[in-house]
Amino acid sequence: MINSSINFSEARKAMVEDQLRLRDITDERVLAAMEKVPRHRFLPIELWDRAYDDTPLPIGDGQTVSQPYMVAFMTQALMLKENDKVLEVGTGSGYQAAVLAEIIEHVYTIEVRPNISRKARKILDELGYSEKITMLIGDGSRGLKEEAPYDGIIVTAAYTIIPTPLLDQLAEGGRLVMPVGGMEHQILYRIMRKGTELQCERLLSCIFVPLVVGADEL
Ligand code: SAH
Repeated sequence: MINSSINFSEARKAMVEDQLRLRDITDERVLAAMEKVPRHRFLPIELWDRAYDDTPLPIGDGQTVSQPYMVAFMTQALMLKENDKVLEVGTGSGYQAAVLAEIIEHVYTIEVRPNISRKARKILDELGYSEKITMLIGDGSRGLKEEAPYDGIIVTAAYTIIPTPLLDQLAEGGRLVMPVGGMEHQILYRIMRKGTELQCERLLSCIFVPLVVGADEL
């Protein structure tokens, strides 16, 4: 086994200290979730030795799992409470969904690429998350009306605008976190619903893969 010499749990501890705590991740529940979820398991085995590096990594089909800091930052930005209902658009590897499932009771996650969704399902099942995470295949830019409204919506792919259905599916007091912009560069936004008003904050600049809008699956 090429990876037998790596101590993944030590690598995870170091990741939490050096990449998260030393920056601005202060939510203890987020830090605990990042220390617990085995990020390497969501990656192809050739990349296990880089799983806890400060970088995004490829997960196949031209898609990527975000840098650990970005996963932690977006999770913290959702300001979650234990009983919150959260929708993730862009399941990808399933890693972000697992981190969310460590903090709240139930996560809904949608992926437009069936191939990627299948791989995520396998690993989420193996790690025991199947009861806490409902996985769907489809265009998440339409949200998931059946389960709406959501206290949190996290979109892990970028688009030039925030799709209206996602804003419509935010509960009172709900938060939506999403990268907005073109291909090269985006701004991570947090939108909060307060009655009929939507409050908008710019959080940081970032680079995500594009959100595919209008296709049932790829
Ligand atoms: N959260 C993921 C990162 C995903 S990368 C993780 O933890 O690994 C973004 C993902 O969004 C890709 O898998 C891509 O296929 C998916 N995606 C793009 N457009 C989408 C859409 N409209 N609906 C659902 N998923 C979409």
